Amino acid sequence: MSNPTWNLEPSLESAAQVQIKPQYELFIDGKWQAPASGTYFATVNPADESHLAKIAWANATDIDLAVSAARSAYENVWSKLSGAARGKYLFRIARLMQEKAKELAIMETLDGGKPIRESRDIDIPLACNHFFYYAGWADKLQEAFAGQQFEALGVAGQITPWNFPLLMLAWKVAPALACGNTVVLKPAETTSLTALKFAEICQEAGLPAGVVNIVTGYGDTGAALVAHSDVDKIAFTGSTAVGKQIQKACIGTPKKVTLELGGKSANILLEDAPIDQAVEGIINSIFFNQGHVCCAGSRLFVQESIAEQVVAKLKFRLQSIYVGNPLDKNTDIGAINSKKQLETIEKYLAIGLAEGAEMYQPDCTLPSQGFYCKPTLFTDVAQSARIAQEEIFGPVLTIQTFRTMEEVVQKANNSPYGLAAGVWTANGARIFGLSSQLHAGVVWANTYNKFDPASPFGGYKESGFGREGGRHGLSAYLKFKN
Ligand code: NAD
Repeated sequence: MSNPTWNLEPSLESAAQVQIKPQYELFIDGKWQAPASGTYFATVNPADESHLAKIAWANATDIDLAVSAARSAYENVWSKLSGAARGKYLFRIARLMQEKAKELAIMETLDGGKPIRESRDIDIPLACNHFFYYAGWADKLQEAFAGQQFEALGVAGQITPWNFPLLMLAWKVAPALACGNTVVLKPAETTSLTALKFAEICQEAGLPAGVVNIVTGYGDTGAALVAHSDVDKIAFTGSTAVGKQIQKACIGTPKKVTLELGGKSANILLEDAPIDQAVEGIINSIFFNQGHVCCAGSRLFVQESIAEQVVAKLKFRLQSIYVGNPLDKNTDIGAINSKKQLETIEKYLAIGLAEGAEMYQPDCTLPSQGFYCKPTLFTDVAQSARIAQEEIFGPVLTIQTFRTMEEVVQKANNSPYGLAAGVWTANGARIFGLSSQLHAGVVWANTYNKFDPASPFGGYKESGFGREGGRHGLSAYLKFKN
């Protein structure tokens, strides 16, 4: 790793603190079971392309076993427990996750490529907090939905992406169990390790067999889970393209569906904002986690009067960003999750240049091994440009200017997506004015990428439907009778 501004000594977190097994089986009915097909796939460390482990590849037969185990656990054990008893298990899981936080953070970084600072300070603490938060609701569902009659749905099929592997698992598993459902979860194929570690935690917590089942594999495994007739709910987080396939597969079935999909979120900077603070926030909003954030502020709209100054400050700031080994505590931008994702990002860099936008990248040197991308700014971007319309899911920021509030609202809302947005201004009335006009599930003001288990999260338009987090996250796992 090199950076022309700083010359810090490496400060590596030791990978020796985690034990990754050479091979992982499927976690079904409280036991580790070999996949019916006998097939395994490799998971690699995107920071250096080294092999980490072999992972079982589940097919429809394994999915059937997992769903049967979840059904039996639902009918015979979990649905018979009181909310307080379910809560005790969730608290136990949360505490065990906290105890193993360092191990989980290192594993997440090794498997996914995100900087250890983020896994350690954001992903894992937030995942633990989700379990604590929903553990607290388990015996208070009557208070959460006072005067309403409801019951658990039954078996939830849950499918997660690779950008926040354990956190997305927590967003799904914690509310499902708190409400009395059992689950079959399929993690993303490039980042299965922390879900498998979570299965070990469930065993250690004494969770009854079959309440949580973890089935690993690729898209075909996820599709088999979606297609299974004995699944009552599908909760999916991932790309809009796959979300649409899932929606089609569930039409005409009684399955309840929530979809958390892609984004192309607008970050709006007004001329009265504290500019240095905003520049730092913009850097965080898009370059955090290599831009692998569904709600990343990937489209920046700067008021014309300050555009030149802001672009100069962004370029200056990018010169001091550390790109490199994600296990190094100095690293700001780690590895891109997979070769495939790096190729997608590089394809969009070429598209941006072909569309006539001006590209800026800092002078840092990337490691020779592994999947890395320099943080990239595009200026002179047309509203219709593909780089401004399509989700890149990498450390790439497009910058456009505007003069009036009407213009920026129109430009920001001119997107198929509507996941999140940011507004930077010192004027409170403008915060309320803009946030009420932006078509986005979340609008942050003078900050970005702030998450809390008590806050609902979800999209408008092609960013999906349904909400996770907060009380809303509970209702996604309940059937209301009145
Ligand atoms: P993806 O859609 O390729 O895969 C997501 C998951 O779905 C993986 O586990 C994958 O194996 C599985 N899958 C693939 N094809 C499937 C099929 N036909 N049926 C069932 N399951 C299938 O997405 P990804 O590349 O892993 O994640 C990145 C995407 O996720 C981005 O678009 C990002 O914006 C989105 N995302 C959204 C949110 C949100 O809360 N809205 C959060 C995180 C990520």
